[in-house]
Amino acid sequence: MAITVKTKIGNQEITLQFDKMSEVHKWNSTYGNLPKVCDACKSPNIFLSFKSPGGNDYFMLACGDCGATGNFGIHKDGKGLFWKRETKMEVYRGGVQGDSQAASNDPEHDSDLPF
Ligand SMILES: [Zn+2]
Repeated sequence: MAITVKTKIGNQEITLQFDKMSEVHKWNSTYGNLPKVCDACKSPNIFLSFKSPGGNDYFMLACGDCGATGNFGIHKDGKGLFWKRETKMEVYRGGVQGDSQAASNDPEHDSDLPF
């Protein structure tokens, strides 16, 4: 029996079909706790995005208004994505340090992002 789930990510409506309720739980564990608005500018104009610079895949939540992005984590086995609750969408500033926002103090922050 197919299970249909309708949800919204930002302004985007998404209809999903699952075979089993357990699959809904798995999906929701990642996508159920995404921010509803951009962390940087509070716009609801956020969407799922993808980039692959240099062959490295980045799955992101991106803001259509200010350009802030937040990266999904990729499970080590490559079989799925996860979103850490503490992940904040931020506008990438080209590696310029000295911004008053203390994002660079975050030990989880990945400084190797190529974009
Ligand atoms: Zn924004």
